[in-house]
Amino acid sequence: MKIDFNKNTDGLVPALIQDAETGKVLMLGYMNQEAYDKTQQEGVVTFYSRSKQRLWTKGETSNNFLHVKEILVDCDGDTLLIKAQPAGPTCHTGADTCFNEVNQGKGLFLNYLQGVIHDRRQNPTEGSYTASLFKKGVNKIAQKVGEEAVELVIEAKDSNDELFKNEAADLLYHYLILLEQRNMGLDDIIAVLQQRHAK
Ligand code: AMP
Ligand code: ZN
Ligand code: ZN
Ligand code: ZN
Repeated sequence: MKIDFNKNTDGLVPALIQDAETGKVLMLGYMNQEAYDKTQQEGVVTFYSRSKQRLWTKGETSNNFLHVKEILVDCDGDTLLIKAQPAGPTCHTGADTCFNEVNQGKGLFLNYLQGVIHDRRQNPTEGSYTASLFKKGVNKIAQKVGEEAVELVIEAKDSNDELFKNEAADLLYHYLILLEQRNMGLDDIIAVLQQRHAK
């Protein structure tokens, strides 16, 4: 899709910046053709700042640059989604993202964790519990899921929320390991639930 910089009379298109690793929305800025070209050439996000009225490379004073991983253009060419690797906190308040108030971390964290689990399987590191599970194989992993499920059931009858939450987390973690062992991710399971729901 070609970018339409002239849809808005000011020649600017919004550029939403997303953390390429965690999927968190980091910030929103605007780009004109020049800012876009510079971003593409240098691989670091440069906006057109409406307040500064000039090109603004995010990180120019803080060094918290946004390293471009992928640039996506929306369906009608008037909005950009840029997946980037932040060199530091993106918000000038020192927060990771300008949208910290929005509860965007929880579901996305599972995707991130899946990525870490996948990586531990591909590149086993010394002392990694995750890597050791993959080394032991499917029987051990399936057994752990069973054990954690039973532990959760036991805590379900108890009134201690902390113990219950910990066992629920253990189960979810080992469940993700089992999915990875079968070369699957949560998306595959969610697709099944969505299909059922559609019926
Ligand atoms: P930086 O580009 O990180 O070197 O920051 C330079 C200046 O840009 C800061 O002093 C702020 O005025 C502004 N700024 C930095 N980050 C943001 C942001 N995420 N959103 C809005 N303004 C920002
Ligand atoms: Zn659009
Ligand atoms: Zn901010
Ligand atoms: Zn447990």
